[in-house]
Amino acid sequence: MSTYLRCNDVKSSSYEEKEVTLRGWIHRIRKQKEIAFVLLRDDRGGVIQFTIPSTKAIDLTIESCIQITGNVRKDARAPEGGYEIRGKDLKIFGIARADYPIGEYQSEDLLLDYRHLAVRTRRLSTIAKIRASVLKFSRQWFIENDWLEINAPVIVKDAVEGGSSLFEIKYFDRIAFLSQSAQLYLEAMVFALGPVWSITESFRAERSRTVRHLAEFTHLEAEAPWMYQEDIMKVQENLVSFIVQNTLSNNSADFEFLDRNAKELGSIGPPFERISYGKAVDILRSKDFTLIGENGTRRNIEWGDDLNIESEREITKDCTKPLFVSEFPIDTKPFYVREDPNKPGISLSTDLLAPRGFGEISSGSERETDVESIKSRIVKQSLDPKTYGWYLDLRRYGSVPHSGFGLGIERLVRWILGMEDIKDVVLFPRTMSRVTP
Ligand code: ATP
Ligand code: MG
Repeated sequence: MSTYLRCNDVKSSSYEEKEVTLRGWIHRIRKQKEIAFVLLRDDRGGVIQFTIPSTKAIDLTIESCIQITGNVRKDARAPEGGYEIRGKDLKIFGIARADYPIGEYQSEDLLLDYRHLAVRTRRLSTIAKIRASVLKFSRQWFIENDWLEINAPVIVKDAVEGGSSLFEIKYFDRIAFLSQSAQLYLEAMVFALGPVWSITESFRAERSRTVRHLAEFTHLEAEAPWMYQEDIMKVQENLVSFIVQNTLSNNSADFEFLDRNAKELGSIGPPFERISYGKAVDILRSKDFTLIGENGTRRNIEWGDDLNIESEREITKDCTKPLFVSEFPIDTKPFYVREDPNKPGISLSTDLLAPRGFGEISSGSERETDVESIKSRIVKQSLDPKTYGWYLDLRRYGSVPHSGFGLGIERLVRWILGMEDIKDVVLFPRTMSRVTP
């Protein structure tokens, strides 16, 4: 494979009047009598204009795949950076049919129906590049801090986050589920490998259609022995700050392209803000914040209610840094979360909320170590204790104090990019109404 230049490489004085060869797709084309003006888009979303005699451009259509050879010229009138290429040789790899369905202004639904083509738009490919950086710097942080990456199964028998959001699948002649979280497997691995982490797709049959819930999302999870609440909060603070700062500097042009004013993100660093659940409820009550009850009536939020999207938005709308909420009532948390031995009814867990109303991006906790209390909470949460036999073994054979957290990659990218709809930051969204493309 020979190496080819990309569009942004050649936009520099060192290539002026030099001959270059670029490959890509036709982003826009304007055929005049003598000359055709073509905007070439490369395979990283960079674009440059080239000109070619119209006689050679007769067959060319939007999205045709081509290779162009010609001389680089500086020309202030050229769009996208003031350089263009005077095309000499044109090679065609694949002509696109003339009915390319995506034009400049399209409805949201059409763009989702044609997501397999829409990923070529500069907006979506720019988001995808930022997402790739978020994944890269996540991995880099764990490598640099000596955590080992593991892979957990996605076909499972047990619910981690409650039975109601499980996807059931036919597994030979039995029933199995798609995993909601790799956590239980990560917990098993801390006994063998110490601090471990994973990136796995998690599946939740979320019936509420919100701007921050997907049926399938990319879940970054970590678990470590001999870590307590404070330690695992520090891990989340350091990791999130590392990802944000490195992505900002690595992708500055992409942030600019998306018109994302990244100034506020520049100051994200440890320590994050902290508030207790009780304080959060007090603030919400003092603002007469109401929840919509089951029959549609409004009522004041009370101690014991989980914090929903609206309450999280209210608490963080003026924050500029992420905020840890701690001391949730134990009954709002899954069976594996540890109860504070000094504060009965209170969990040793935190939710990390992104600032400016973006809401929960990760949840972390100390894990319960007592077999009997895990068992009784499994029953209380209407789960079947039989399927958790293997998990309880972890507490029976040399139990170790440990903590962990789970962070949604889409939630993180959504906040970093300041985008409202989570569907925008995932390539092929899975929601209640959509499993294709
Ligand atoms: P929420 O209360 O926001 O619905 P959760 O508390 O149910 O989330 P956890 O079980 O704590 O979610 O999962 C850990 C992280 O995974 C969350 O903090 C969030 O970032 C992400 N996450 C959870 N559910 C979804 C989803 N349906 N779509 C996208 N990300 C999700
Ligand atoms: Mg949570």
